[in-house]
Amino acid sequence: MYPPLRGFLRRCHEQFAADDSGAVANYIPELTRANPAHFGVSLATIDGHVYEVGDSSTPFTIQSISKAFVFALALETLGHERVESVIGVEPSGEAFNSIRLTGDNKPFNPMVNAGAIACSGLIHQHEGDGAFDLIHRTLGRFAGRELDVDEAVFASERATGDRNRAIAWLLRNYSVLGDDVDAVLDVYFRQCAVLVTARDLAVMAATLANCGRNPLTGEQIISSYVVARTLSVMTSSGMYDYAGEWIYRVGIPAKSGVGGGIIAALPAQLGLGTFSPRLDSHGNSVRGLKVCEALSAHFGLHVLNRS
Ligand code: GLU
Repeated sequence: MYPPLRGFLRRCHEQFAADDSGAVANYIPELTRANPAHFGVSLATIDGHVYEVGDSSTPFTIQSISKAFVFALALETLGHERVESVIGVEPSGEAFNSIRLTGDNKPFNPMVNAGAIACSGLIHQHEGDGAFDLIHRTLGRFAGRELDVDEAVFASERATGDRNRAIAWLLRNYSVLGDDVDAVLDVYFRQCAVLVTARDLAVMAATLANCGRNPLTGEQIISSYVVARTLSVMTSSGMYDYAGEWIYRVGIPAKSGVGGGIIAALPAQLGLGTFSPRLDSHGNSVRGLKVCEALSAHFGLHVLNRS
């Protein structure tokens, strides 16, 4: 589909590998062990071609990128009315870990921690003890392979995640969560600790770009209705408090995570996955951002520019 693509990705990798700005996340102690030099890029087209450059098969924790897929799973499993009754879809204009809720005491959207914890709570209400297994299996179906969990990162966040614990108890206060707050938090912390590679992220993003059908396995994982809703919240709230700049400059629905990953899903065309753990002040991967910007500009991929 894009013949010069492999060369372009190689040039991006070479050029942006020289950028040593940013720093690895440190508020989850175990994440400080990430190698800041790692840099991988992968792109998957909806017809099943996968391109890879650099450390594209190095595993790292998915972190907040899981939020997009768990939101999709909640919509698919429980229906939009149930999900929308407890979680909004408005950008919050605040940091991902903000403890503030909307005027009617809902999380602003599923891409901030409050909304993501509420989503994990909905899955937990529906599946009970099987909630994490369902999320884990679903993430694997998006990636087209079984994914591992980094138990050390899970334990590290569980031991130090008091802010998320406070958010969860606030949600309990407003009946967004039921009585099993600790169990829901365990589901949330564990889903953030699922291990992926840049290649996995590219395939997961390409599955969103391909109306919910994994382009490698051919499996239909979610409906196109759910894909459209998921890409919508990624567009408005997927890149922390850089979301407005992102849609203006790059114009591709995306989600990033503090493990250093970014997914970008261009409907009907491709999915991009990048991994580089040095983050900017918003929490977005510095090099990953540059790759997305360069790709969008070079191939004219902004979704609102259809000339
Ligand atoms: N597990 C992380 C947290 O809840 C995810 C944050 C992120 O990737 O933005 O703080």
